[in-house]
Amino acid sequence: MPFKVLADTFEALESITARTQMTNILVGLFKKTPPDIIDKVVYFLEERLWPDWKGLPELGVAEKSIIKAIALATGQSEDSVEKTAKTLGDLGKAAEALLSAYRDKARKSAGLLAFASSRRELTVKRVYDTLARIAMAQGEGSKDIKIRLLVGLLTEASPKEARYIVRFVEGKLRLGVGEATIMDALAIAFGGGSFARPIIERAFNLRADLGEVAKIIAIKGIEELKALKPTVGIPIRPMLAERHNDPKEILEKVGGAGFVEYKYDGERAQIHKSGSNVIIFSRRLENITHQYPDVVEYVRKGIKANEAIVEGEIVAIDPDTGEFKPFQELMHRKRKYDVHAVVKEIPVKVFLFDVLYADGVDYTVRPLVERRKVLEGIVERSEGLDIAEYITVKDPVELEKFFMKAINEGAEGVMVKAIHKDSIYQAGTRGWLWIKFKRDYRSEMIDTVDLVVVGAFYGRGRRGGKFGALLMAAYNDEKDVFETVCKVGSGFTDEDLAKLPDLLKPYIVDKKPARVVSNIEPDVWVVPKLVAEIIGAELTLSPLHTCALGKVRSDAGISIRFPRFIRWRDDKGPEDATTSNELVEMYKRQLKKIAEKTGEGEAA
Ligand code: ATP
Repeated sequence: MPFKVLADTFEALESITARTQMTNILVGLFKKTPPDIIDKVVYFLEERLWPDWKGLPELGVAEKSIIKAIALATGQSEDSVEKTAKTLGDLGKAAEALLSAYRDKARKSAGLLAFASSRRELTVKRVYDTLARIAMAQGEGSKDIKIRLLVGLLTEASPKEARYIVRFVEGKLRLGVGEATIMDALAIAFGGGSFARPIIERAFNLRADLGEVAKIIAIKGIEELKALKPTVGIPIRPMLAERHNDPKEILEKVGGAGFVEYKYDGERAQIHKSGSNVIIFSRRLENITHQYPDVVEYVRKGIKANEAIVEGEIVAIDPDTGEFKPFQELMHRKRKYDVHAVVKEIPVKVFLFDVLYADGVDYTVRPLVERRKVLEGIVERSEGLDIAEYITVKDPVELEKFFMKAINEGAEGVMVKAIHKDSIYQAGTRGWLWIKFKRDYRSEMIDTVDLVVVGAFYGRGRRGGKFGALLMAAYNDEKDVFETVCKVGSGFTDEDLAKLPDLLKPYIVDKKPARVVSNIEPDVWVVPKLVAEIIGAELTLSPLHTCALGKVRSDAGISIRFPRFIRWRDDKGPEDATTSNELVEMYKRQLKKIAEKTGEGEAA
């Protein structure tokens, strides 16, 4: 397929403002795409070359190298490329304009026909393969190889194609297409309609690779997708919990009785074992095996199944007292080079809480009680490996008691999990089969939320000329859009503020991203990517904000009074942010608490 088809699609996607239009454009694109390269087309839409969990290198072309490549491909100086980029707003447009001028000139001197026949048409495959080669070029001399390959591509590209190739290499394609939209479009293009959507979603949850899922459905059809099973080495998207803070209602939600377990404050780990091979994936499915050589050993020795996929929380332990330490301690392990020193300094323990697969059996479709039995059967407890502390409860008082015990021992709270016959492992889903009950739920907003940056405002006074506040949004997982909740300007240290321009730069766009729903116009729009933890005094209703607009009151959305920035949540992607529905639930609980306190029944 000519790369031109993709470039035209990108251009069309740039100009639309509604998600339904986006889906229609993608359906058209998928139908045109030969099945054997549809994975690559999906990766382009996701603005990546492969899923992160594969641990393959990123493109790694510095801005300076891109400028150099454009200069070489267009016969300009690097200076003039930079100047053109400044005038036109980005390097992609600069490449397009300069290439076009260069070709015009060449055409004039060589004669139209001679010139036209000298260029062959770029295909999607050729662009993808060259970009993959650019990424794979590592080590000494790789900088020049990367530049040379990029020059080659640009020389063959049309001006418009060059615009998108450059933006992709820069990591600034900013199409704003979400996974949910791609899945909707695949369901329509190959599954016969939206009823195929859950099948596609389940396959994605088991494969964490939309390109692969697209390829299976396009080549082999929906039946083949249905038959997918967990595979050791391929991460499964994690099951997530809803939140609640009333023991009685929590038990009602899980069907009267459930497991209640410690909610450890550590790092979630999905551990894959095959013989003596062990891979550890993070909550975001990154391969973090190298950070935990000690866990690899514990698992090798302590998991008796030959092949298994288990899940647990890795917790830092105080070597002197044996007590839990806060999860920030684990961050030291992210620095690759001193892992072995840190392993001694801050030992860890893994508390397993689930098994998704063992020796040929897919346990994701089995109820929790069965999964726990299997887990207990394959784990040999040791100093570094254990099963999460839990009991079965029916009584809210007992639940509350266990909660206090968990808190006293340094846990963050408890997880309550349904144990009825339908209590399957819902990969990739946040649902009421698991409920988190954390220590900091009170009537006022003492619990934090995770919101996505969708815009930024320039500051005044001391912050004049720099960004002083951010427009934050919740994720509406039903509509796959981001709805604004608040403008946050406090809680940032001077250092946080100084870093903002660089942090936001790659995501700034010149008009509202298609999946953002906002009545407020920030100074700059930001593609939803960065997630921050926010706290405030309380949740309020606001006619300005669009979060859950109409769900509590017809003309107002949910907002946060006195919001404060706490920290970046690099471990979360935009779709992992707190959802609009969660905020509705939190708001309702807040009303209830206020009503209880004041003795009024109708605080709403
Ligand atoms: P949070 O920000 O509260 O950690 P999250 O969005 O990362 O939440 P949730 O599913 O909402 O994920 O909350 C459950 C998280 O708690 C898991 O991702 C896991 O890291 C952690 N956890 C700790 N103990 C348990 C347990 N016993 N069972 C399940 N998850 C647990």
